[in-house]
Amino acid sequence: MGLARSGKAAIESLVLGGARVLAWDDDPKKREEISGVGVEIRDLHGINFKDIDALVLSPGIPHSFPKPHPVAAKAKTSGVPIIGDIEIFAQNSRNTPVIGVTGTNGKSTTASLIGHLLSHSNISNEVAGNIGRPVLEISPDLGPDFIVLELSSYQLELSPSLGCSIAVLLNITPDHLDRHGGMEGYVRAKRRIFDKLIHDPKIIIGIDDEITRSIYQQLKHETDFSVIPISGYEIPKEGVGVKSGNLRSRLPSTPKCEINLKGMKTLIGGHNYQNAAAAVAIALSLGVEQPEIEFALQCFKGLPHRQELVRKLFGVNFINDSKATNFDATERALSSFKSIYWIAGGLSKDNRITKSFFKNLKNVEHAFFIGSSENEFFNFFKNSTPCTKCSNLEIAVEKAVSAACSEKKESPVVLLSPAAASFDQFESYEARGEQFKSIVGSLNLEKFSNWETTT
Ligand code: ADP
Repeated sequence: MGLARSGKAAIESLVLGGARVLAWDDDPKKREEISGVGVEIRDLHGINFKDIDALVLSPGIPHSFPKPHPVAAKAKTSGVPIIGDIEIFAQNSRNTPVIGVTGTNGKSTTASLIGHLLSHSNISNEVAGNIGRPVLEISPDLGPDFIVLELSSYQLELSPSLGCSIAVLLNITPDHLDRHGGMEGYVRAKRRIFDKLIHDPKIIIGIDDEITRSIYQQLKHETDFSVIPISGYEIPKEGVGVKSGNLRSRLPSTPKCEINLKGMKTLIGGHNYQNAAAAVAIALSLGVEQPEIEFALQCFKGLPHRQELVRKLFGVNFINDSKATNFDATERALSSFKSIYWIAGGLSKDNRITKSFFKNLKNVEHAFFIGSSENEFFNFFKNSTPCTKCSNLEIAVEKAVSAACSEKKESPVVLLSPAAASFDQFESYEARGEQFKSIVGSLNLEKFSNWETTT
């Protein structure tokens, strides 16, 4: 059920494995795309579940909250297990150890950084999962040393057999609460990464927020496995952390490691230091040495739509952080720059904005709001920062550039960091980021060249 990329990969694997597969998507276009791949297209709303072994559900489709999809509800009442593509992988994979990465924010960056560090040290690996490459697209013939899996809370709920040999939990802040029936359910889903650890496992856990810090304290006392704390703001005892831009390892049984992260253009801010600390902790535990780690960190390209520098024009930096779809991710961007002309808004999630999320509004010169949440954002921020409602991205960029150029602050930044989902005006966060890049790319140079900035 659900025929996006991971659904298609699941079908292909199941058909190759000799299973009889019935497939459905409520979107007729998606159904057309898969016809002719040895699968029966059948409306799963109407089938009798007594002959079904498992329902493979796309992680984007709700099975419990806010309301189960009718097909999931039917599977549940018939006692049919509901699983995801990662469960198929977990039940059938050979012995390749899995490095699982979860957390509210930083999963993709950390998973790709881990892959990058390992590759630079000739440790073969495949990065897959929530990052956009379904795990079942990895050919079983590849046989890498490690599979690095980015795991969302939805995927963790649907993969009970998954056993990680290294499990990373970066951070937990409110997000996707509607899908988990509240914060408790969300935390429970994230903790599932520790349910089945195998192969002399290691746990890597962020200690920069209250929730993961208390999970760390608990695990340290409850488990015999190695539990390694990581931080973007301090150097934890027996862990790896970054303080004032300097990364340091205090891991007990690995060589010393000290790396200056300042000046590494794709690893800016305490949140990225947290990601770097997690990746370095893994690399060190696998025997990679400091010079190789340092070199690999320096040439990490970063991922698009995450604090991505799009262009520098007349001294104004344009940053695309479209992937910041929740308050915490956006707050990290606001803490990473000064003189910010901030574009935000989109589809609100169901957790409320509170002052506690936004501690760095002092860095914002002016906020420009778009999308269905613009009134909500405007009303919340209007007393603490100059704000303008712009309805769409084009108007917001235009107004932000005008303000950035005319106010003549030092090194102004036009930042798209929406703190909201994209689906009210865009197909995805990628489409939102691409539109930002295209607007910024075609800014009329002549019009803005009349404004001089101080840099
Ligand atoms: P995820 O895959 O968990 O969504 P990404 O690496 O794609 O994480 O980053 C998503 C957003 O979160 C971006 O705006 C990015 O700048 C921000 N971010 C990255 N790492 C962290 C972190 N460790 N803590 C908080 N925010 C982060």
